Amino acid sequence: MSVKLDTSYVGTRESRLGSITGYVGDLDDLAERSKCGTLRGCSRCFSQSSTCLSACGLSQLSGIRDVAIIHHGPSGCSTTGTQTYRVTKQVAAKRGIENNSVYIGTDMDEKDTIFGSAKSLKEIVLETFRRYSPKAIFVSSSCATGIIGEDIDSVVEELKQEIKDIPVVAVHCEGFKSRIWATGFDISDHAVLTSIVKPPKVKRNTINFKNFYESARNEIIDIFKNFGVEPVFLYANASVEELSHLSEALATVCICGTLGNYLGNGLEEQYGVPYIRTINPLGIAGFETWLRAIGKVIHKEPEVESYLQAERAKYIPQIEEIKKELKGLRAVIGMGPGYTFEVSRVLQELGIEVVWAAAWHYDKKYENDEIPPSMDYLLKNNPNFQVSVADQQNFEILNILNKYKPDLYLSRHPGSTVWAIKQGYPAVYVADEYMIFGYKGTLDFAHVVLDTIRNRSFEKNLAKRVKLPYTDWWYKQEVDLFLESTKTK
Ligand code: SF4
Repeated sequence: MSVKLDTSYVGTRESRLGSITGYVGDLDDLAERSKCGTLRGCSRCFSQSSTCLSACGLSQLSGIRDVAIIHHGPSGCSTTGTQTYRVTKQVAAKRGIENNSVYIGTDMDEKDTIFGSAKSLKEIVLETFRRYSPKAIFVSSSCATGIIGEDIDSVVEELKQEIKDIPVVAVHCEGFKSRIWATGFDISDHAVLTSIVKPPKVKRNTINFKNFYESARNEIIDIFKNFGVEPVFLYANASVEELSHLSEALATVCICGTLGNYLGNGLEEQYGVPYIRTINPLGIAGFETWLRAIGKVIHKEPEVESYLQAERAKYIPQIEEIKKELKGLRAVIGMGPGYTFEVSRVLQELGIEVVWAAAWHYDKKYENDEIPPSMDYLLKNNPNFQVSVADQQNFEILNILNKYKPDLYLSRHPGSTVWAIKQGYPAVYVADEYMIFGYKGTLDFAHVVLDTIRNRSFEKNLAKRVKLPYTDWWYKQEVDLFLESTKTK
């Protein structure tokens, strides 16, 4: 399916990729149904609260250096702006740069919701431009503006007549339009592709690197130096000028397929920048497959091979050693799909049995009409485990943990990890996207797992003192109880 850049709207993941948020079964079945087109998401008769896609979309855009986000909605919607601080202050300070991006909520009230507030939106954007001189302005909708049909596009078109030197971009972030918050990543990529990226003039020795918080920045710069290329990290603290040249790169890669898929496909389709579609650089197989694919695209295969051999000699013996201590452990995973199936592979590499993997959503097929590479890899290698798809429905996770009693739980979200700990299970919060990057990351991760399971006193003590809201009745239920169509399968 092609990326359509002549409109400010982006189709939801449900409509573009057939993505789902409800499924219980095994990996084989999930993949088989994806391939043959019979996979249908189940709806829940009970659901806990979830996340708004604007959290993904606007947190990505607000990380760009020196831009303004105008979130046109009630004040509650602007809580997503709190995420900006981490990138523009903490991550920027670590890098020794300044990022003066601002995040402004328009604080719609009842009157605005009835009569509309396009006029005050326009004034707020103009005042923001006067006060902060941003390098780009992103004007975002919300559920409230979507419901009343506030015409953000027309306001933005009018503003473009008055603010001529910088991009002013309409961003459609109505939270109700998709259950899948990763749609927000696509929305932010769409805004960048349509309004900031310019057609190529020259070819540069750069590789676009889509990530979250660039914590392995220096390590990756050093790795790429071996091959004579430079990474350009996106979007955290990237400048608008850097983004305008994305079409001139040698390739696009990403640390997470869920995060990078839309931009990678868009740049490839529009400007012929190759998108590296392999498993991600987590674990041994992931790192090697990914780096070899980059080597092929930039014509540096021998250099990549000799780099890998030198690094293997350093790290593989140590990884093999620690694997002896991890062998036989059993794990449950709950993460976004970009990581669930990648981390499942790494755990299997380390000799840990994956007994259940929960993905917060599942993309049936990517834009290139193929199932996600991480899924494909598992199917060809070791597909024997149970999976569920649930938009972080923690009540289901606790049921699964209670049933399977694993040695550890791994999640990319603290709001999920903490429940497992309260239940008494050692849990690893895989917060940093580079936590398992490359050989060194794999070794460090193995040590983290070992540390987590060796001393379980914290979880045991906490569990003794916490009363959870779940009854014995719930723990006896099968986890697909609330999934309507699975029951009749
Ligand atoms: S846009 Fe909608 S779902 Fe998102 S925070 Fe605002 S009201 Fe909630």
